[in-house]
Amino acid sequence: MNIKTIGILGSGQLGRMIAIAAAEMGVRAHIFAPDATGSPAAEVAFAATQAEYSDEAALHAFASEIDAVTSEFENVPAEAMRLLNDYFLASPGAEALHIAQNRLREKELAKSLGIETPSFSPIRSEDDLSAALATLSGKAILKTTELGYDGKGQIRVSGGEMNAATLWADLKTDEAILEGFVDFKAEVSFLVWRDSEGQMGVFPPAQNIHKAGILAKSVAPAPDISAIVIEAGNRAVRAIAEAVDLHGILAMEAFVGADDRLIFNEIAPRPHNSFHWTIEGCTTSQFRQLVRIITGLGAGDTAAKGQYVMENLLGEDLHRLDGLYADGRNAVHLYGKAEARNGRKMGHVTCQK
Ligand code: AMP
Repeated sequence: MNIKTIGILGSGQLGRMIAIAAAEMGVRAHIFAPDATGSPAAEVAFAATQAEYSDEAALHAFASEIDAVTSEFENVPAEAMRLLNDYFLASPGAEALHIAQNRLREKELAKSLGIETPSFSPIRSEDDLSAALATLSGKAILKTTELGYDGKGQIRVSGGEMNAATLWADLKTDEAILEGFVDFKAEVSFLVWRDSEGQMGVFPPAQNIHKAGILAKSVAPAPDISAIVIEAGNRAVRAIAEAVDLHGILAMEAFVGADDRLIFNEIAPRPHNSFHWTIEGCTTSQFRQLVRIITGLGAGDTAAKGQYVMENLLGEDLHRLDGLYADGRNAVHLYGKAEARNGRKMGHVTCQK
């Protein structure tokens, strides 16, 4: 039997869970990252290369040892992906990464596809910010357009009292986006898969609760979301997958407005924290689906087997581990990170409702 090897750019928990799913399917994983050695992903992988994403010789050597490649994060330098794309159809694809690397490009794409977004303005200087704040009615969020995650690089603002010079200096960036604050009744995420022939499908959506900008809990299939919102979300995430020529999987986070409107927040062209429940909850988890697609095995069934609750375990939650293990219904996942810090994702726990 010809054993396949997939390459994974990135060394965190998503790479780890892709590698575990691959191993269960008889597929080897090779991790490539600047901090690969001893990382959550390398610990469970067949091989690992520790090198910078700009190291072309290392990327060529990596490419010669793998049959397909994906990335566990969206901020891979475009050059690295371009180089790998000469060898295989890289996942999630150049356009998916280009859009997902910048919040303005994401919102502009959504808007161009007729998907509602919060009001937003590009901010490239202190003057832009002062002008935008002067016309602001109500609350807003100022976000860096690149490299922000888990609520980092975000400042909540409200007109009047804000000082543009201080805010702009605090954000430490060249480009930001000022978004109208959405008074949402729920947060929901959608996950689409798309193969090299353009075949697509969706997972059941998840309903999410964030604390301090970090995902705390997901319940799926989403219990309190109307069929109209689910239909709108599924349509939107499929349209985005098609528009960015996705190869792999892509998540879309959205808000549900008070009047049951779906409002776009952001995309991530990779496995998503709010779909970790699919490991227990679907015949084909998000990780298995990604491995199936990039190795050309064809998509699997993604229907949910019941309703599931997934809770993230941050550094400050680890004292609860004994209690969580004591309940035999809990599937506890730990990511093998030696250092537990407040706000750092250390693992998650999934339980069928
Ligand atoms: P993000 O990194 O953009 O996903 O933001 C993290 C979390 O902050 C979201 O999941 C929301 O809970 C909240 N948030 C972000 N943008 C907005 C917005 N425009 N209006 C209201 N809440 C928001």
